[in-house]
Amino acid sequence: MAVAGQKCGARTKTTGRPCEGTVVKGTSRCRKHQGEWSALGVLDRRERELKEAKRKQAKSRKK
Ligand SMILES: [Zn+2]
Repeated sequence: MAVAGQKCGARTKTTGRPCEGTVVKGTSRCRKHQGEWSALGVLDRRERELKEAKRKQAKSRKK
């Protein structure tokens, strides 16, 4: 588990140095380096899918 205040450490393409960004809580990377399949990305996706499912359900219920 990531500790609050931990450095991201991802190699930046521009400088080639480890990223100095602070990691997002619960992940090992900063906000800038969150990938599609990072914990945050997956959470985001799941939330979106949940909303989509709810919307579809509401639609079918109305009829
Ligand atoms: Zn970073």
